[in-house]
Amino acid sequence: MSIDKGVLPLLKHTNPVYGTGERVLINGFGEVTTISDPTGVIRRLLSLLDGSRSVEEIHHDLSADFPEVTPEQVTEVLEQFDAAGFLINAGVSPEGILDDYELQRWERNINFFGSYARLGDNKYEMQSRLRDCRVSLLGLGGLGSHLLLDMAALGIGNVRAVEFDRVELSNLNRQILYRESDIGRPKLERAVERVQEFNSRITIEAVERKLSSVQDVVEAISGTDVVICVADRPKVEIVSWVNEACVRTGIPLTTGGLDTQRAVYYTIVPGETGCVQCWRRQVSTTDELSHGLLTEKTERRIGGDNAAFGPLVTMTTGFLLGELARLVTGIAPPVAAGRLMELRFGDYAMREAERWTRSEDCTVCGAPVPADAVAPVG
Ligand SMILES: [Zn+2]
Repeated sequence: MSIDKGVLPLLKHTNPVYGTGERVLINGFGEVTTISDPTGVIRRLLSLLDGSRSVEEIHHDLSADFPEVTPEQVTEVLEQFDAAGFLINAGVSPEGILDDYELQRWERNINFFGSYARLGDNKYEMQSRLRDCRVSLLGLGGLGSHLLLDMAALGIGNVRAVEFDRVELSNLNRQILYRESDIGRPKLERAVERVQEFNSRITIEAVERKLSSVQDVVEAISGTDVVICVADRPKVEIVSWVNEACVRTGIPLTTGGLDTQRAVYYTIVPGETGCVQCWRRQVSTTDELSHGLLTEKTERRIGGDNAAFGPLVTMTTGFLLGELARLVTGIAPPVAAGRLMELRFGDYAMREAERWTRSEDCTVCGAPVPADAVAPVG
């Protein structure tokens, strides 16, 4: 790693510094970094990281009090601080990336992305990746109706929403996008109207369609960058169709649902992680319960109709949205790539329930995936 000459290192406001005698403590999101500083040089260096000086100027000003410090030493320490995530480049500008409306509307997002940004990053670009991204959202039920509104709030620019169902009274314990007056009307129509009122800049392509084959899903998702599948009918088959369609098109998938008292989700990145078929093969020998959940010969399924509890719906939505933001902005790798994460309502503990790898001889993803299929999204 090397630091570009033009950067203006700024110690992030999210990383406050405390001094105690000969030690410097830098706080960051619940973790404290302790640095020994008997001469006070680190404290002086930190005071110069206000975003107004280049690396060369930082060394120049530091030399006034500590003439023995070399430019190489300053660079080395700054590289360490940058690797720890303490620094951002105050020289980056939103010009040509975001307009005034976007800067205001997504100010808090941008500040969040800034907490992940390194000296070589531009936090404004992270937001623009969300705007330029095209997401397929399969299903506008409990999870999908939350997700569409949340995606509009996050600043996702383009969504293709696929749904065929109508609003029912029993949806309204969790599908808060709809109203009593919507009962009997198509979900898609109401959802698009509500969400566009909330964010006039989002483009929603409404596809009123029941998915019933791999080819249907391929058509529904083609041309998009990421797929979020929260359609749960027909039960197990939809998982297979969406999996195969995502592998064929090379589009990453994040998906999840409720299993009564637990929320589950996983992410598949074609060409990198194993697919659902790989998972099925691997658990068939090791885990009878998961095998049953995943196979078409069982009545059990992920995403039951009879129990759907609002708090778990909201949490699952958050997990899926977080995966989407990770995949699109690159702030951090997806949490659930190639593994099933679960949260149990009993104790709110999050754990890895399953993990699988890519099988070279998988009947779905074993064939070579085109090289351009695994390019970064957005
Ligand atoms: Zn596979």
